[in-house]
Amino acid sequence: MRDLYDVLGVSNNASNDEIKKSYRKIALKYHPDKNPGDKEAESKFKEAAEAYSVLSDNRKRQQYDQFGHAGVGMGDQTQGFSGGGFHHMSMDDIFGQFGDVFGSDIFGSIFGGGRGRQTIRRGQDLRATIELTYNEIVTGVEKTIKIKRLEHCVTCQGSGAAPGVSPTTCQQCGGAGRVRQMSQSFIFQSVVERECPICKGTGKVIIKPCKSCSNGQVRKSVSVKVKVPAGVESGNYMRLDGQGNKGESGQSAGDLVVFFEEENHPHFVRDGENVFLEAVISFSMAALGISIEVPTIDGGNVSLKIPSGIQSGQILRMRKKGFPVMRGSSRGDQLVRVHVETPSGLNKKQKSIFEELESKENKVKQSYRKIKL
Ligand SMILES: [Zn+2]
Ligand SMILES: [Zn+2]
Repeated sequence: MRDLYDVLGVSNNASNDEIKKSYRKIALKYHPDKNPGDKEAESKFKEAAEAYSVLSDNRKRQQYDQFGHAGVGMGDQTQGFSGGGFHHMSMDDIFGQFGDVFGSDIFGSIFGGGRGRQTIRRGQDLRATIELTYNEIVTGVEKTIKIKRLEHCVTCQGSGAAPGVSPTTCQQCGGAGRVRQMSQSFIFQSVVERECPICKGTGKVIIKPCKSCSNGQVRKSVSVKVKVPAGVESGNYMRLDGQGNKGESGQSAGDLVVFFEEENHPHFVRDGENVFLEAVISFSMAALGISIEVPTIDGGNVSLKIPSGIQSGQILRMRKKGFPVMRGSSRGDQLVRVHVETPSGLNKKQKSIFEELESKENKVKQSYRKIKL
């Protein structure tokens, strides 16, 4: 899949205005009305609309910058993202969403007048939290979560009308969902358009409602699969298109926003891509040097060579044993801070060994230096 910034021909740090301008240019060039029957132009047009839908939305853009296509529900459709792209959308849908980019003049003159639009009553967005172990964050993981959401009623198939009765076109607005109203002030008369009060903008009315639901919807427990990419952090989130509450009849579903939370690990501390661990060793181990086994966030133990003469507080770096870097293939490091435990509670024999050691120490026994803060 092409990089969305490339599709619109803008740089990664383009302003909202630049993105809008560039999309407008491409959309005007490849618009189907100007290129009748040209499949390539049409696919270019849709591709640009898709890129614009992400990059013009600050939240989605941030997700894309962080996770790539997967973060905005594009690409692999088997991962619990439902139809994030525009491949299922008609041209009218695209214009319904982005008509404002073109301004009303251009919309009217080039694209053959406004298109009647009903009030969009999208289903509500829902949110959920997934807790992840460090190990799951390293590998990436597929989780199944249970949520409660509004689903289409089985009895009426979401229409909200009793079986055998179909919703009828609203008489008030003739199905347009909007009505014009004259408004008379002291000086002049004007016409305003507003949502139809009878059908609430849907264009349909139900004479005999379904008894098993309200407006075609029922609350249900459902399982949703979430493919968590490797390397996520607490506070990161992912938007699953269309996995929120289903909309009322004919309207699109809301999204499910899944927030990630990492475990509070008993001995690892995460710092971005790196992970910290403290290893406690004895005084003689520090003096003589030793190989120790340290746990890693991969799950197993890895041997770490402690050089002789290491000082307490020194940090040893284990390369590529940290967290995966998102949108890349590299990994952070594991940083092991060594703590040297000074022996205490010596028995007689140990005490005499230390006394002998002390008498034979060849370094300057005592000095002062400035504290590093
Ligand atoms: Zn029903
Ligand atoms: Zn109406």
